[in-house]
Amino acid sequence: MIPNSFEYFAPKSVQEALVLLNQYQDDAKILAGGHSLLPQMKLRLSSPKYVVDIGRIPELAYIKEENGRISIGALTTHYTLESSSLLRQKCPLICETAAAIGDVQVRNRGTIGGSLAHNDPAADWPAAMLALDAELELVGKSGERTIKVSDFLQDMLTTVLQPGELLVEIRVTAHPARTGSAYLKMHQKASGFAIVGVAARVSVDGNKVCQDVGIGITGVGSKAYRARQVEVELKGKALDQTGIKKAAQHASDGVEALADLHASSEYRSHLARVYTARALQTALSRAT
Ligand code: FAD
Repeated sequence: MIPNSFEYFAPKSVQEALVLLNQYQDDAKILAGGHSLLPQMKLRLSSPKYVVDIGRIPELAYIKEENGRISIGALTTHYTLESSSLLRQKCPLICETAAAIGDVQVRNRGTIGGSLAHNDPAADWPAAMLALDAELELVGKSGERTIKVSDFLQDMLTTVLQPGELLVEIRVTAHPARTGSAYLKMHQKASGFAIVGVAARVSVDGNKVCQDVGIGITGVGSKAYRARQVEVELKGKALDQTGIKKAAQHASDGVEALADLHASSEYRSHLARVYTARALQTALSRAT
């Protein structure tokens, strides 16, 4: 399929991109890695008059750490995140999640910012970012704003991004001592997308008492969500296999599970419970 015709811009700075986005508003689409937008355009599900390619703005691709806070530029590719030695050491959940995305071609082109902005209900980054309680920096004509990822992800393919607004940075906290994490996913065989994916982060004290926990789940509902009830069941308790399995029974509480040709809603809910228990168990063993 061939997309509708459009005018193409390749700004060299965020400032230049914002001027274009502000000028064309709803008629413009941001292009990052293109691995979600271009298929949509080819299927004519999206037909922007103007395409603003941010892929040539080097200031948007980076990984930095300062005082235990890790900042990631929105244009950083999945592969760069997968292979970062800084992240492997300070926040390995990011490397593990990146490695689970699609295939090597997708990981080489696709970006973390593009994935979060697209908000596919089966995408991997939303789950990991929820588990890490990430904070996002958005820039638009009225300036900058910082928002929690849980508020950013609104519904299927929908975020709080306004026309003309750019996601520029993602921030997470480096894992403190005695923290373990894991990302486990049942892949849909053809695309690699998650039928269900669970990201878990657990911090414990010397007696394995849970000090902090974050669990993000993708693929089950219309958007990725944080499994708050599982977290409540675990926080402050000494963790073991029985307790984890019991808490994981709440993995899809309050979520309307989707059904499609790959999995029924009952099976998705079942997988959410099984993968939550496994991800937590793995995270705990890595913490200790
Ligand atoms: P683009 O396609 O360029 O953009 C996507 C959307 O986000 C567009 O609406 C665009 O306007 C907007 N956007 C992009 N960047 C910004 C920004 N900085 N600020 C505001 N808006 C922005 N994903 C998974 O999670 N797991 C998988 O297993 C997986 N498998 C895949 C397999 C295949 C074959 C393909 C083609 C894709 C797969 N993906 C998968 C999706 C992939 O990760 C995409 O790269 C990602 O969803 C979008 O990132 P992108 O940089 O390509 O964004």
